Amino acid sequence: MKGIFVVGAGPAGMFAARQIALAGYDVFLFNRDIKPGGLVEYGIYPLKEKMKAGLRKQFAQVLAMPNVHYFGNVQVGDDYDLTIEQLQAMHPAAIVFACGAQGARKLGLPGADSKGVYAAKDFVYHYNQLPPYASMDFSTGKRIAIVGVGNVAIDIARWLLEDSPDRVTESVVVIARRGPLEVKFDEKEIEFVERHVVREELSAELMRVQPRCASAGQDVSPEKLFEQHFRLLKNSDFKSVPPHLSFRFLSSPTAVIPDAQGRAARIQVAENDLVLKPDGSTSAVANGEHCEIEVDTLIFAIGDEHDPKIGLPMGPGGYATAPDPEHPSEPRYEVWQPASSSVIPGWYVAGWARKASTGLAGIARHDGEVGASRALEFVKTAPDSGTLSEPEILAQLEAMDLRPVTKADLQLLGKVEEREAQERQMPSFKFSDNEVMLKAIQEERLSSSHVGEADLQPTV
Ligand SMILES: Cc1cc2nc3c(=O)[nH]c(=O)nc-3n(C[C@H](O)[C@H](O)[C@H](O)COP(=O)(O)OP(=O)(O)OC[C@H]3O[C@@H](n4cnc5c(N)ncnc54)[C@H](O)[C@@H]3O)c2cc1C
Repeated sequence: MKGIFVVGAGPAGMFAARQIALAGYDVFLFNRDIKPGGLVEYGIYPLKEKMKAGLRKQFAQVLAMPNVHYFGNVQVGDDYDLTIEQLQAMHPAAIVFACGAQGARKLGLPGADSKGVYAAKDFVYHYNQLPPYASMDFSTGKRIAIVGVGNVAIDIARWLLEDSPDRVTESVVVIARRGPLEVKFDEKEIEFVERHVVREELSAELMRVQPRCASAGQDVSPEKLFEQHFRLLKNSDFKSVPPHLSFRFLSSPTAVIPDAQGRAARIQVAENDLVLKPDGSTSAVANGEHCEIEVDTLIFAIGDEHDPKIGLPMGPGGYATAPDPEHPSEPRYEVWQPASSSVIPGWYVAGWARKASTGLAGIARHDGEVGASRALEFVKTAPDSGTLSEPEILAQLEAMDLRPVTKADLQLLGKVEEREAQERQMPSFKFSDNEVMLKAIQEERLSSSHVGEADLQPTV
């Protein structure tokens, strides 16, 4: 048999699996999390229920295909449950790595290991209830700084300002390395938090950085910025609501200063000038001035990195992919072995595993499909690899003391969660602990097999 393995069941992996299954091949998904969905389940804002529900439905349709096999709760990697070598020993005809970008980009600042300093994705995993992050300490204080000005930073600000059950936030400051015209968030996202911005405070910040932006040819007058990004603030009568959201532009944190208990107390920030480059783009260059900002929580939302522990060869920008001299900044799908300067036959990356932190779920879907079609092209002419069957793989995983979660198990878990939601009178419910989920699956399996037996008993 020529079966294709997919590592990771986020949107890239799930839609890669669909493409492969539609082509008539057996596809085997290996996923770190018990549940499929990746960042759709555990990253996208919890209140975007409609979007999540739509995607969950599509994932369920993929899993319902008879030639799609699922092994959740199995983390692939050198220091994890199953090495790539062990995967290879199950004889896949090709492997698509769609494991996302699980590391966080770091600035390596002094004091960054202080309490209260978090990477955005870990924090987002926490409030989206992904085990084990769900039960780890991600406590926040009253004054929070978020470094980065993309949609993830704004999602986190929204959580802290609007929906966190802790209700302790007094102020959130978003720190941007470059200027106000270079913010990366979408209009749709800023609308959720705009009402927390103090009009006069943002105007003052824009005036503060205006001369430095003007020297790079940028007009950052409040009128222009309000028109472009903060529509609510165009109205001069606009009154903000607490907790407050502010922005600090042309600023780069250089150190975290902890208090006596080791928790972040202040951050040191370098002021930047904006420099216009010959190609028309801008860069931020430190101008030697510094200031300090009092914070008790600092969240870095500056992007993600590929996890080197998976065991894929690494290049300067993440997982190494075949060089493309014509498009050097666009990674290809084929995995590259720099040591031998050759492609690894039959190995592909897709989604955020190809390009970290790039694009929405729809882009990841498309990327998964492209990755799958590359794998299918390869497999078409490759000899039969003798891929193990689902029961054989399951037996091997269990022999390694792993507790793989299958499609049938996911259905049992779904039933228990539905029941919990009804009992708690909630629209939906999800467990946030792996052991609890595994126990719930086991108990549900036992009770449904008892029901099955009882059904067979003759009624008196
Ligand atoms: C905070 C945040 C908010 C977002 N909001 C939106 C939004 O509102 N709308 C939108 O369209 N997009 C949004 N996105 C983007 C979207 O989530 C991504 O585009 C998409 O999820 C990337 O898909 P992926 O499959 O490549 O990776 P992921 O979704 O990260 O999936 C990776 C999968 O691989 C698995 N995995 C990881 N490591 C291993 C391993 N070692 N072994 C086995 N399996 C492994 C994980 O368990 C996971 O299931 C958001 C992203 C973030 C971070």
